[in-house]
Amino acid sequence: MYNSPVLFFESTTLVEILSPKTHFVRAAIICPESYKEYALELQRKFHDTAADIHYYSEPTQTREFIASQKMGVCFYVIGEWQPTATIFTIAVEEGVSEAELQVKIIGDKEKFVYCMKCFKDSQIPVDAKKVQCPCGAHLEVGPFYSIVRKGYIGYPFIPLTEGVI
Ligand SMILES: [Zn+2]
Repeated sequence: MYNSPVLFFESTTLVEILSPKTHFVRAAIICPESYKEYALELQRKFHDTAADIHYYSEPTQTREFIASQKMGVCFYVIGEWQPTATIFTIAVEEGVSEAELQVKIIGDKEKFVYCMKCFKDSQIPVDAKKVQCPCGAHLEVGPFYSIVRKGYIGYPFIPLTEGVI
């Protein structure tokens, strides 16, 4: 799945407030049971549309749940970044498009930079413009996210004063 969408910091699927998307016949809400109240709150917003809740505990069951859904289902995923990114990838692997996904992150979103010097990803503060890669390179965080590299492209630069970024 070379060019499949992945969950990233500026993904179009990310929302602050979940709301029912139109043109879908059913809804499937996926979240860990610990965030049940978010799922129930969303479920109440669906009036004429059936909205099932699947409590996420491990990826295999969630994959089965997603694969068992019929056409016309919109998926709503709620949770912390890492499990949600995993569920997002599973959904895409099962043929769900970004138009059929809405994602609400609880807690902090994560952002990664891809170093053009050592070709590795590392996690960075979400608002950082310049960072230092673990390889030592100073990187300017570019505006482009690479779904292949799973990070924002980081362009190496030589700092004016060594040690200050
Ligand atoms: Zn590096």
